[in-house]
Amino acid sequence: LMQLSVPLNFIGFVYREIRQGLTDIEQMFELLEVEAEVNDRPDAKPLALNATGTQKGAIAFKDVRFSYDPERPILKGISFEVPAGKTVAIVGPSGAGKSTISRLLYRFYDIQDGSITIDGQDVRDVTQRSLRAAIGMVPQDTVLFNDTVAYNIRYGRPNAGDAEVQKAAEIAQIDTFIKQLPDGYETRVGERGLKLSGGEKQRVAIARTILKAPPILILDEATSALDTTTEHEIQSALDKVSENRTTLVIAHRLSTVIGADEIIVLRAGEIAERGTHAGLLAEGGLYASMWNRQREATQAEEHLRQVRESD
Ligand code: ADP
Ligand code: MG
Repeated sequence: LMQLSVPLNFIGFVYREIRQGLTDIEQMFELLEVEAEVNDRPDAKPLALNATGTQKGAIAFKDVRFSYDPERPILKGISFEVPAGKTVAIVGPSGAGKSTISRLLYRFYDIQDGSITIDGQDVRDVTQRSLRAAIGMVPQDTVLFNDTVAYNIRYGRPNAGDAEVQKAAEIAQIDTFIKQLPDGYETRVGERGLKLSGGEKQRVAIARTILKAPPILILDEATSALDTTTEHEIQSALDKVSENRTTLVIAHRLSTVIGADEIIVLRAGEIAERGTHAGLLAEGGLYASMWNRQREATQAEEHLRQVRESD
């Protein structure tokens, strides 16, 4: 019975992690060596990225249909492209299928119909290792390893030198904070070390991704748990990382997607609207009403802060 219960517990743990929104898909796969529901084809080849200047990794979703459970379609024929080096934002109500899109690009699951390609190669035809090496993900909740800050950043590229680790931390605006820790970069963090705040952990994750320097970037509500001031600081770091990289940004706060080349509004697994920020506001549809609602909420928050400060 023991032999059986241990793996079952383990599977339960993995399942819960996944249900909780996949804190860090890369860590899940690499640390636990969990095989997902998909396997490499016997003839799978490494993903080959076309370089257009420094820009690589054009993403195309073509009429993608997907459901976790056959009874309940989640994505009902989604088509969009992220040209190499460009940024496309996906916004929409919770449960619309936004994170599912990022999981499918990572080929965490296989789709039921349509295709997902990177530089013309179907994600089902390439090795998972090469696919995941090409994609960097900044998740909503970062779990740090019980190790030093330096280790946690260097995980993005294990052979990086100290100077590179520090440079990445500078871009992620976490370098000053790290230097005033008791042991600087050698300070132990994580559950059994120094506990970092959500914003600090997220900046460590951003530094890690900067160091990894992947051609493709997925930011899944990477700043949603932060207050507006911290979010603002992190946003400028993220803008730097996504410069010249093919970026898919899933956003809760619309203020973070104003500059995207295209904004896709997903509702119940379908694209309800698409366009630029200005274009969508002019349309006066779902995006415009989401925008107005969020602006009112931000103003109320601001007002409350001023009242508190004047007390
Ligand atoms: P969003 O990121 O837009 O909030 P998700 O893509 O996470 O939405 O989820 C879309 C829908 O798929 C939700 O209804 C969610 O409950 C469901 N879902 C997500 N993950 C799973 C899963 N592993 N198994 C079954 N249903 C899931
Ligand atoms: Mg989500």
